[in-house]
Amino acid sequence: MEYANNILETIGNTPLIKLNKLTAELPCLVLAKYETFNPGNSVKDRMALQMVEDAEAAGVLKPGGTIIEGTSGNTGMGLALAAVVKGYRMICVISDKQSKEKIDILKAVGSEVHVCPTDVAPDDPRSYYSTARRLATEIPNSWYVNQYDNPSNTKAHYLSTGPEIWEQTDGKVTHFVVGVGTGGTISGVGTYLKEKNPNIKVWGVDTYGSVFKKYHETGIFDENEIYPYITEGIGEDILPENVRFDIIDGFTKVTDKDAAVYTQRLAKEEGMFLGNSAGAAIKGLLQLKEHFTKDDVVVVLFHDHGSRYVGKMFNDDWMREKGFIE
Ligand code: PMP
Repeated sequence: MEYANNILETIGNTPLIKLNKLTAELPCLVLAKYETFNPGNSVKDRMALQMVEDAEAAGVLKPGGTIIEGTSGNTGMGLALAAVVKGYRMICVISDKQSKEKIDILKAVGSEVHVCPTDVAPDDPRSYYSTARRLATEIPNSWYVNQYDNPSNTKAHYLSTGPEIWEQTDGKVTHFVVGVGTGGTISGVGTYLKEKNPNIKVWGVDTYGSVFKKYHETGIFDENEIYPYITEGIGEDILPENVRFDIIDGFTKVTDKDAAVYTQRLAKEEGMFLGNSAGAAIKGLLQLKEHFTKDDVVVVLFHDHGSRYVGKMFNDDWMREKGFIE
């Protein structure tokens, strides 16, 4: 018999899938690391499990404990799966920008959810960063995960996602393109790939309204770069410790409209029903067209599943209301 002992054992080993129509204008092979095949439907299952197991090993997460995290949903899902299997209480603190589907899904897997306003500064006591920290001081035997600065986030991708991409491409990967939020994915995969072959180029996809691109190019944290935006999962108004700017070759910014339109196009033209950051990632990759030549093997990572966006990017009324389609 061949079976997994629990759902956590099915995390990772996701397929690499060739893009065909959307990338027809490019000279190179484009392969998508398809992370929705994880049990929580996103790449975040990997780092959630790594963070929990490292916290257990370090003795900061103890039996009967409570896991607390400020999360836009996918990390919460991964943590919730680990909490269910391992027997912890799970509290997710989430911003009100996130889709209702994401909140309902977290509750479905047994998580408690606190919703906080998006349009306040990170150090405002109402922000989701501050609320998560406060709950962790108030609730006994609790552990605040802090995916932004927790090194186990990057480590998960260094130990699993990076090696998988290297092996699946027989070491032929030349470029890695990925949306950046906490930075765990780009830093872990990018560090691993560059150790294997320092010529591999690592590109981050950023949003308008986020600080990453300007900071990478100038070293300046420019508050003028910060304003509300619609794209979910990528871009930040802080500099997480998990973003290793030194291993990133460059950032490209994608508009909210392009990210939304390309999320629809992935589904309609490739049969890839994915989240909003996948639309941003593929549009960012297309913007980098002049960097690619015939023999290149470009890997793009798609973070999560389309089901969490049915009320938004996959709803034409919502798309029209935002001015993203006619
Ligand atoms: N896309 C989605 C949908 C996400 O949830 C996240 C995590 N915030 C990202 C992209 C960015 O990944 P990372 O945090 O590893 O940079």
